Amino acid sequence: MGLKQAVIRGGLESLYFTGAHLALKPLCGGVGAILTFHHVRPPRPDRFQPNHLLEITPRFLTRVVKLLRRSRVDVVSLDEMHRRLTEGDFKRRFVCLTFDDGYRDTLKYAYPILKAAEMPFAVYVATSFADRLGELWWLALEAVIARNSRVGLVIDGKNRAFDCGSLAEKQALYEELYWWLRRRPNDTELRDVARNLAACYSVDIGAFCRDQCMDWPEIAQLAADPLVTIGAHSVNHLTLAKLSDKAARAEIDLSRSVIEAALGTRPQHLSYPFGDPASAGPREFAIAADLGFKTAVTTRPGVIFRSHAGQLTALPRISLNGDYQHLRYVRVLLSGSATAIWNGFRRLEAAA
Ligand SMILES: [Zn+2]
Repeated sequence: MGLKQAVIRGGLESLYFTGAHLALKPLCGGVGAILTFHHVRPPRPDRFQPNHLLEITPRFLTRVVKLLRRSRVDVVSLDEMHRRLTEGDFKRRFVCLTFDDGYRDTLKYAYPILKAAEMPFAVYVATSFADRLGELWWLALEAVIARNSRVGLVIDGKNRAFDCGSLAEKQALYEELYWWLRRRPNDTELRDVARNLAACYSVDIGAFCRDQCMDWPEIAQLAADPLVTIGAHSVNHLTLAKLSDKAARAEIDLSRSVIEAALGTRPQHLSYPFGDPASAGPREFAIAADLGFKTAVTTRPGVIFRSHAGQLTALPRISLNGDYQHLRYVRVLLSGSATAIWNGFRRLEAAA
């Protein structure tokens, strides 16, 4: 099947190929790459899925695994990546697989696939999620908008009401409110607004954490496998860059201690919550280095180069999430400008 036909299959299928492009990027540059995953689970029928960017299907993960197996790359643990970077061992390209947040579907769907392939991977755990205290506010926002055709809230001191009966209205409203919340000067305000909104519309904000995140026994099950590295992802999943020096440091340091107390192993690797430049910058990179983490990852997109040996707590990653905005990469592919990726694309087709 040609690439064009594949892409016009539309919907979820085209997202697979979006991911395929990203999967192939590490083969084309640098000494290696770290891939980011959030949810791995079967597709859901709901039309309104604004957080779909955070999930791929088990089927797609299986295809990525097959692709990696056929490629001339080593899938390695974070410790091994650290060794290669610090010792300058770049004989073969490497790929690290990383899962953020500690979702239950990492254990249920991703783990069996990676275990069968004997591929190491890392899970960065936000400890409040495992402690059942996490507020997955972005899912609460999604639920409020999904279940109502009109939503009211106070924005900048004014009562505002939004129609959200149609799918297009829901999508537009989610985008607007999500980014308005993310732009709040601090996460206290963000959480207050989200909590109030959820309460007003009878959405149980705590349920998302209980339903979707692993508890400690589940994390321990993963941690018992030598293939798995458990990393830290802060306590409360806040925008670290908006916190005071002391609070940002405590979020990182405390999460490491909580994981050590729960699992008996002290995490050596960190993932910054959100991980974009507005959430983690030079101050956070310095804190992670000062606290002695071997590596720390952002969500800034990119592959790993030799020079990253000098900035081990500010590593870029490549997201394999089903993010619609990445469809632009597919368009780049279709322009024919990325021949190497095109070739890799065909390999993925063959592997499917
Ligand atoms: Zn996260």
